[in-house]
Amino acid sequence: MNTREYFLPQSVNEATQLLAKHGPFMLVMAGGTIAMPLINEGISFPQKVMGLRRAGLSYVTKPNGKITIGAMSTLTQMLDLKEIPILQEAAHQVGGWAIRNMGTVGGNLFAPPPAGDFAAALMALDAQLKLVSTAGARIISLTDFYTGFMTTALSPGELVTEIQVPVPTGKTAYLKYGRKHANTPAVVTVAAQIELDGEGVTNSRIALNAVGPHPIRASKAEEILSGSPLNPTTINMAASAAAEECEPFSDAIATEWYRRKMVEVYVRRTLTKITDRR
Ligand SMILES: Cc1cc2nc3c(=O)[nH]c(=O)nc-3n(C[C@H](O)[C@H](O)[C@H](O)COP(=O)(O)OP(=O)(O)OC[C@H]3O[C@@H](n4cnc5c(N)ncnc54)[C@H](O)[C@@H]3O)c2cc1C
Repeated sequence: MNTREYFLPQSVNEATQLLAKHGPFMLVMAGGTIAMPLINEGISFPQKVMGLRRAGLSYVTKPNGKITIGAMSTLTQMLDLKEIPILQEAAHQVGGWAIRNMGTVGGNLFAPPPAGDFAAALMALDAQLKLVSTAGARIISLTDFYTGFMTTALSPGELVTEIQVPVPTGKTAYLKYGRKHANTPAVVTVAAQIELDGEGVTNSRIALNAVGPHPIRASKAEEILSGSPLNPTTINMAASAAAEECEPFSDAIATEWYRRKMVEVYVRRTLTKITDRR
């Protein structure tokens, strides 16, 4: 089967109308770094394709205390986000330059594991997504967006148009571990934001990637830290809780067993990096 129709809407309004009209037979294409290989290898045969490149979704704005990122902004654009170093670091860790130049922030939310390295950083920052359809707009937290392996809370006819990120009030750190130093799929990725009042942790968000069906929160580790001092004892406890609660898988890159071991190591290193920044 060949792709018979290609649409290039000039606005979100036009895009959602096209989506409402053509629905499930139409593939939404952002940067195409995931979608195009599937088409080229004959795995996906979309009859209709809608490219979002001209829909006006490539922007970064900075209203009070928040950064709003249009879903079509590329990962390369994120390297300029000086206000949120953890997002610069996360963008730098996705693929090589070609992938970062084409791949979008919106597309990374849909990336199958072990991809999703940028989404993990967004999750640690409590990012909210704006979903838009012809019926209107709604806001959902990125944590609630994921419902399972390759499934999300996106309803038919909806697009992710914007990612809203509160400027972090806590200390942040990000570590990705892969088989190579650069341009490598993750064995595990850890993103953390910790708020401290003196020595005590008042709020913590720890997100893990490549060790679950999608980027996940390490909620038991977060609970352990809450109200406790951030020291080697609590860090070790949180790291082993994260290793227990994650849901790793085996693939060509690493076994389930190895990924779990590395979660403990990398959660510990990420939290220790935060203590070093005090
Ligand atoms: C060689 C290579 C290396 C890679 N390395 C990494 C890596 O290290 N880390 C990592 O995280 N990822 C990696 N990736 C995966 C991918 O490139 C990135 O995750 C990228 O951000 C995907 O964005 P995209 O715009 O290209 O997605 P696309 O391929 O355009 O989109 C993927 C799917 O997401 C959906 N979609 C996209 N945008 C929207 C939207 N706004 N609304 C609704 N649905 C939407 C569509 O259904 C679409 O089919 C790699 C890919 C390749 C090919």
